[in-house]
Amino acid sequence: MVFPRLSADMALFLDFDGTLSPIRADPGSVYLPPEGAGILLTLAARLRGGLVILSGRDVRDLALRVPQGLWRVGGHGAQICAPGAAPSNALKAAPAELVQRIQQIADPFPGVVVESKGEVLALHFRSAPDAGPQLEAEISAVIAGFSEYSLQTGKMVIEARPDHADKGKCVTAFLQRGEFAGRAPLMIGDDTTDEAAMRACLQAGGTAIKVGPGASVAPFRLDGPDDVWNWLREGLT
Ligand SMILES: [Mg+2]
Repeated sequence: MVFPRLSADMALFLDFDGTLSPIRADPGSVYLPPEGAGILLTLAARLRGGLVILSGRDVRDLALRVPQGLWRVGGHGAQICAPGAAPSNALKAAPAELVQRIQQIADPFPGVVVESKGEVLALHFRSAPDAGPQLEAEISAVIAGFSEYSLQTGKMVIEARPDHADKGKCVTAFLQRGEFAGRAPLMIGDDTTDEAAMRACLQAGGTAIKVGPGASVAPFRLDGPDDVWNWLREGLT
């Protein structure tokens, strides 16, 4: 198979952490590389707006890190912010009881933090990597009592997310928008949470690129964010 090249009839979906920027221990210190914003805005114009940053971050946080002129989607697809718009501060929150119970699971572990991203709750356990299986089992047991919630694991993170917070459903919904209709979708992502979006792209006649190691449904692969940027730059030529 020939490695895909960017073309004007594509809809491009890009994950943020680990895809456009290297993952860092402190997610607050992750930004685009210096020329990144300009490249993304130029590409979005080439694609006539068909470029979406699709992240698991809270969209208010994501909006601090990528240009306002782009579609910015946070919460794994649950929080959509159109080009030019400011993210809403009135995001729906997770059920208070769920927040409380997941916080109780994290409390015994120093450095393990619970991040509220609207309806999505993320427990970061980078500071206690060995505790992953135990934390996952405990959170799974709690989530069983919340029918609309599922457990999702990523890189050193365990998330409780409502079923509509799904990158695959998000891609499918975008492709039904007028300006995205008929486009061949391409998802680029590095984590397990991106797989649903990749599957949605493949089902819609598009394709996907996995970043870094690990099993993936994506037919193509790049080693890391530097290679993603090289590929995006090639799309400008
Ligand atoms: Mg990622």
